[in-house]
Amino acid sequence: MLNNTPEIRRNILLAIVAWSLIVGGSLGWAFFSINQESIKLAQHEARAYINKDIAFRNWAASHGGVYVPPGKTTPPNPYLAFIPDRDVTTTSGKTLTLMNPAYMLREMQSRFSGPSGERGRLTSLNPLNPDNAPDAWESRALLRFEQGETEISEISDIAGAPWLRTMRPFIVEQGCIKCHSQQGYRVGDVRGGIGVAIPMKIFHGIADQAKLNLATGHGVIWIAGLIILGFFARRAIQHHAERAQTEEAIHKLNEALETRVQERTAQLTATQDALVRREKLAMLGQVAVNVGHELRNPLGAMSNAVYFLQTVLTDADETTSEYLNIIKNEIAVSERIVADLMDAVRTSPPQPATVTVAELIDPTLRDVPASVTVKLDIPETLPVLRVDAQQIHQALRNLISNSVEAMPDGGTLKISAVENAPAKTITLSVQDTGVGMTAEQLDHLFEPLFTTKARGIGLGLVVAKNLVEANGGTVVCRSGFSPTDKGTTFTVTLPAADEKNIST
Ligand code: ADP
Ligand code: MG
Repeated sequence: MLNNTPEIRRNILLAIVAWSLIVGGSLGWAFFSINQESIKLAQHEARAYINKDIAFRNWAASHGGVYVPPGKTTPPNPYLAFIPDRDVTTTSGKTLTLMNPAYMLREMQSRFSGPSGERGRLTSLNPLNPDNAPDAWESRALLRFEQGETEISEISDIAGAPWLRTMRPFIVEQGCIKCHSQQGYRVGDVRGGIGVAIPMKIFHGIADQAKLNLATGHGVIWIAGLIILGFFARRAIQHHAERAQTEEAIHKLNEALETRVQERTAQLTATQDALVRREKLAMLGQVAVNVGHELRNPLGAMSNAVYFLQTVLTDADETTSEYLNIIKNEIAVSERIVADLMDAVRTSPPQPATVTVAELIDPTLRDVPASVTVKLDIPETLPVLRVDAQQIHQALRNLISNSVEAMPDGGTLKISAVENAPAKTITLSVQDTGVGMTAEQLDHLFEPLFTTKARGIGLGLVVAKNLVEANGGTVVCRSGFSPTDKGTTFTVTLPAADEKNIST
């Protein structure tokens, strides 16, 4: 039940991974945007630079070039030697040399670089001045212009560092023809390219600062997210533990409930059994009372008749005397059965009186046959009992007759008594060395009509129990059936009288 914790841990881990991916993805996208932005910024600067160069060049072209005093940095252009007015002298005698637009621009580009270290370039696949010959990247760009492209702008490596290189085609205009006519150009042709290379270092510096700020911000948000997640994870685990505890408690409660149901069911079954027993007894009662009444008189008559015959037939032969005895004995057995039946169902209220244990036991031993050795263990100091002596005689007689019947080949019958002073009771034991009982027999003991004997009627124990209980006592049986622990013991516990008196 508690073992859902791994699932919770897995979900927490998944949430952490998902949160990290979201924050990481956002940061990645921001870095990408910054990179794009810095390229756009660099391109913007490149275009401004190129526009400025084109403006200068157009201005110079519109004037057919400009004349400047020749000097160390501006010697007469040898590639313009074919132009008649390349060098002129002013009316005051000052010499001037023609700077064509390309020459002018190249000088500006080489001598005055921009604030970011931009490098302007003027180049052509067919240059007048070999210094204007393109490098590999420029050659490829110039060829693409011939295909119709109007601007090429790319990040490219120069001496191991990234630069943004931008170039636009340079279209032949009327002003160009003066210097480039002998190369066969016409107005509208791609003459070459005008471009600039800007080091990305500065933009990267700005971008790196922005990235650092963003990374810090994202880091803070990521950690804050993890803290919130941790808080919820703790709550989830706590909640889970509480639920598990509740489930455990419910489980225990269920078990307790089940045990109670079982106990109550057992109680109910016992009550039901008792009810059945009582019902059986009640039914038996009816039959017993009717049959008892019907049989008592004929049995009495028969008994009288036998007595009469035995008295008058003093000289009867041996067989006749024997049969008369049999009849007499069987009448006695029948009378006992009838008496048992009546007793079983019709316990008259006990009339308790003080009586000693010896007085209770002695009369019950008269019927014990000689084959059974009787051992008595009755201390003289025992208190007297307060019971209905007739009823307890009957109960003990029933127990003793069972013991005798359990020892058909003889044995020992031990009768003992002990006092339980705190409980104010005396326990009598009737112990035999007879056949004993099986567990199944023990289960059915004290049930009316339960007997294992061919001529038994199964009422002796019921009567004994009823009589003892009516006198405020209890009967318990312990019996073994194994060869080592054979025999049966019935213990009868009875209430002692308050006065301590054994001398009667
Ligand atoms: P009955 O003697 O008519 O059979 P009881 O109620 O006296 O009826 O006894 C019921 C049964 O209990 C007996 O049939 C017998 O199986 C068993 N029983 C009672 N007392 C003993 C004993 N001392 N030893 C062995 N079995 C006994
Ligand atoms: Mg019996």
